[in-house]
Amino acid sequence: MYDFCVIGGGVIGCAIARELSKYESSVVLVEKEMDVCAGTSGANSGIVHGGFDAPVGSLMAKFNVEGASLFDELSRDLDFSYKKTGSMVISTSDEESAQLEVLLCRGKQNGVKSLRIISRSEVIEKFPGVSEKVKQALYVENSGIVNPFELTYAFKENAEANGVKFIFDFFASEFKENGESGLLTSADGKTVEAKCFINAAGVGSGSVSKLFGEEAKLTYRKGEYILFDHPSPVAMPIFQTPSEKGKGVLICPTTSDNWFVGPTAINMDEPSSRIRRSAEDELLEAVKKSVSSISLDKKITSFAGIRTLSKSGDFVIGKSKASKYLYNVIGICSPGLSSAPAIAKYVAESFNLNRRTDFNPIRTGIVKFSHLTSEGKKLAIEKNKKYGNIVCRCEVVSEAEIIEAIRRGARNVDGIKKRLRTGMGRCQGGFCLPRIIEILSRELDVSPESIVRKERGSNYLFKPEAMYED
Ligand SMILES: Cc1cc2nc3c(=O)[nH]c(=O)nc-3n(C[C@H](O)[C@H](O)[C@H](O)COP(=O)(O)OP(=O)(O)OC[C@H]3O[C@@H](n4cnc5c(N)ncnc54)[C@H](O)[C@@H]3O)c2cc1C
Repeated sequence: MYDFCVIGGGVIGCAIARELSKYESSVVLVEKEMDVCAGTSGANSGIVHGGFDAPVGSLMAKFNVEGASLFDELSRDLDFSYKKTGSMVISTSDEESAQLEVLLCRGKQNGVKSLRIISRSEVIEKFPGVSEKVKQALYVENSGIVNPFELTYAFKENAEANGVKFIFDFFASEFKENGESGLLTSADGKTVEAKCFINAAGVGSGSVSKLFGEEAKLTYRKGEYILFDHPSPVAMPIFQTPSEKGKGVLICPTTSDNWFVGPTAINMDEPSSRIRRSAEDELLEAVKKSVSSISLDKKITSFAGIRTLSKSGDFVIGKSKASKYLYNVIGICSPGLSSAPAIAKYVAESFNLNRRTDFNPIRTGIVKFSHLTSEGKKLAIEKNKKYGNIVCRCEVVSEAEIIEAIRRGARNVDGIKKRLRTGMGRCQGGFCLPRIIEILSRELDVSPESIVRKERGSNYLFKPEAMYED
């Protein structure tokens, strides 16, 4: 039996698992997919927001501002990509400039430091390609960009190193009370007994709440993106002034110097991450407000993520009123990524546990061959020849790194891609995919046909006999 069972291995569940591992408690995390970071945490804008946008007094404002302040130290401890780039919210009319003043005031009330309104000429200094329509901008020095995959894997690996157990392919589908503890059963009959269950199931958190007799009213909002190849023309996220119609689209760099335009905001009754055919045209039209011109030459792909919103629009964090076994961390829409470190701290502190003296906060990421100097590359190959075998040519990823990613828990092509960027370049896996399937199959000692893209059933290869019937 465990003290805590965290349900859901997104950034929120993994951050909570790591934070709980700082205390004297036993923790298990169950995840329905084969790996962590398989949901919304793997499809978002990757911005560490300053915290000027959330309503004053909301949990979003509190956790965003506190969370953003933790990223510097956390990125040093956990070795994930994070850049404090600053960000700008541009205005293109007098009404929008007045709205910037509102955001400035709200930001100050929320406790955001270092934000100010800058003139068009200062905007141009920061981003020469800005649209002619732009008048001013709110400049937020404390904003940044983070690699959301690396962040989630870092939380997971450090939690694991500090004793948290991770169980994959566990689709939480039934709950039974059992005195002081409860029993959670997966769709395929696996069980986990724990005293407290923390619902961090993102898009699935409404269904998880129901297992405990609670009706969580959640809605969903899809965000679609166009992703472009590096180098990025922008050095920081460029937001449009939010209005009643929405937050507007962003043009934004990633920590790997790719860049994207997006997201859209499509309300849905049922969650779906399928990209609408019209999304690209809508995004290109909308972004004209921010940039003088944009070319599709460097477009790589499109993707979409799903925001889960509570009825109030704010995060819902705390013990459930319906079940003594359940603790909810749900409705974690944007700025959930930025807030994750602070949410996790709050959740763990709310149980009044004793601190461990042997918690190790340090985790090192996978050494990226492409980041090494020429001398470093030579030394790496001398030590391990597999560094000399470049599997992904677009992003320059070696076989040695892929083997290390598998050692750290990657079991499918998506897990390698999110850890190392294989298949994220211009060829989108055209060259490296067969080699990655081969390496996964060899290292995991399973057949190539059983290797999947992401979820069960997304196999690439079929035995000829599976294609025909008598
Ligand atoms: C378009 C978009 C842009 C965004 N941009 C930003 C941004 O720039 N900055 C920012 O701070 N935030 C941003 N966010 C918000 C941020 O991405 C989310 O708040 C965060 O990723 C939510 O994490 P999570 O762990 O709650 O959910 P998820 O990452 O979805 O994790 C939930 C996990 O639970 C698992 N699960 C579900 N049901 C079950 C079950 N029954 N049993 C077991 N496991 C289950 C899922 O497989 C999943 O892995 C954005 C979100 C979207 C959609």
